[in-house]
Amino acid sequence: MNQVNTGAQVDVVSESDYRWNAIVRKDPAFDDKFFYGVKTTGVFCRPSCAARLPKFEHVSFYVTCEAALRSGFRPCKRCRPDETALRERQLLKVQQICELLDQAETIPSLLELAVHAGCSPHHLHRIFKCFTGLTPRAYAESGRNSWFFPRMSRRRSIKPVTRLADDFTIEATRFLA
Ligand SMILES: [Zn+2]
Repeated sequence: MNQVNTGAQVDVVSESDYRWNAIVRKDPAFDDKFFYGVKTTGVFCRPSCAARLPKFEHVSFYVTCEAALRSGFRPCKRCRPDETALRERQLLKVQQICELLDQAETIPSLLELAVHAGCSPHHLHRIFKCFTGLTPRAYAESGRNSWFFPRMSRRRSIKPVTRLADDFTIEATRFLA
């Protein structure tokens, strides 16, 4: 029986497949588009990984990092495929919370924000501070009460969330290292 399973293993039957070619070229353009596991080492990598090219017959392909993990592969210590995905997920959460705070009439509680982000309040507090340098409340108050909290009146100097991605990634890399 053929299972259609998004996020699971992808069948790559030939060495002319673009995914195999991306690995051969170590092409970073394909990073996070798919991942590959190497049966002989039990490790999975991003396409651009600097590790030695495995044999084609030992490689299996996955659409997501989670699918590779579910199949029993460990993340490569060199290209850290899981951390990229983790950072992206965290960044997305923080972006959503920033947007929520920008639009909120009253500042939601940390618990409400955590429910919105689908994680624990503690985790949200930690990743929000990691990416923005502020707690969610400080972020909200920095715009809302800038005349009252002059030291926090940084809202205007905060870059648009969409432009923060690179800075966030650098911060997160340092944080996660
Ligand atoms: Zn790797």
